[in-house]
Amino acid sequence: MLHQGTARDVVVPEKEVIELARELVRCRSVYDPERGTDERSAARLVEDRMRSFGWSVEVTEVAPGRSNVIATLPVHSPGRTLAFEGHLDVVTAGDETGWSVSPFSAQLVGDRLYGRGAADMKGGVAAMIYGARALELAGPFPGSVKVCALVDEEGMMAGAKHAAASGALDAVTGMIVCEPEGDEVCPSSKGAIRLRLEVTGAMAHGAMPKLGHSPLPTLASCVEHLRRIEARLQGAHGPHPQLGDLYLTPTALVAGSAQQMNVIPASGSLYVDVRTIPGVDHRSLVEELSSAFAEIARTEGTQAALEVVDDRPPVDTPEDDRVVRCVVDAHELETGSRPTIGGVPGTTDGTIFTRDLRIPTVVYGPGGKWIAHQVDEFVTVGEIVRYARTYARAARQFLTER
Ligand SMILES: [Zn+2]
Repeated sequence: MLHQGTARDVVVPEKEVIELARELVRCRSVYDPERGTDERSAARLVEDRMRSFGWSVEVTEVAPGRSNVIATLPVHSPGRTLAFEGHLDVVTAGDETGWSVSPFSAQLVGDRLYGRGAADMKGGVAAMIYGARALELAGPFPGSVKVCALVDEEGMMAGAKHAAASGALDAVTGMIVCEPEGDEVCPSSKGAIRLRLEVTGAMAHGAMPKLGHSPLPTLASCVEHLRRIEARLQGAHGPHPQLGDLYLTPTALVAGSAQQMNVIPASGSLYVDVRTIPGVDHRSLVEELSSAFAEIARTEGTQAALEVVDDRPPVDTPEDDRVVRCVVDAHELETGSRPTIGGVPGTTDGTIFTRDLRIPTVVYGPGGKWIAHQVDEFVTVGEIVRYARTYARAARQFLTER
């Protein structure tokens, strides 16, 4: 049943929210130390806008030039704490001649705002700021709202990890991650493990292979073995209704030298990108791979060492969790139809907050699900405004419902 607590309708200043999104796109917030670009200018812009609303703003430098900006709206009475989350960094525009518009000029063509980060996720950042502002202007509410604009989502999520460890979000009991999901409400996200397998053998002359222990056959067998484990796990878990299958994908093989074809190398490495679904236990999967690789290496006369480079568990927020219900209801109020429940194929900063703080997270934001990181990335300005209104409605319900 829809909650009708939004008696005073929410008002979003369309021009201002669109202009903020455009100004953010013009900030070249690609983390590129060689070129000297980072999130600095985008963080300053967001901070200034938040301060102009009278919000209390905490700016924390996570790494040189890379600052998290976390605002807390004025609190009137005790209650729940809701957080909006978005990231300030964008991926590279790549070869800019491949774009039909300049990627950092924030060009408007009809209803479309073009540029790197338009959808992923400057549009979402502008929408969450003005959504929170619209909530505030609609009248006092119980509880607390935090608006988080963080750094390094596209890298190692250092901003989210720092924010989670800082204590600033300890009271949060629901988080809306404003990443572009094409109007789907996404309570689940895939998990990810990045693995590096180092195989050590013994170097030898190519004419006398018996004197060495090549790591190459071991690496080849490990790649083959990944396929078998993947097939078995896919069979055991089946496809997730929103996230599909799990995958164990070898993404890099490094061994030997093309210039030294008569040399058996002493060592080599295999990199694996593991994508899991809810129900897969990361620790036991890593243990299984580690002992299987060690056994393969032993039979080949080599040694294998498996390193976990990064570990992000899957997210599986229940569909009846308050934060999910509130977003679903707000979407329906705003658009007139129930949203599709979807899943995030990658990971988001929300993964870190669910992992480290057990915050129920839901991903829902303006922009197409598949447009991120592509050339001619765009978001429609109509969506940005609509999401700002939807965020305000969702927040009001989250904070006021019994
Ligand atoms: Zn993103």
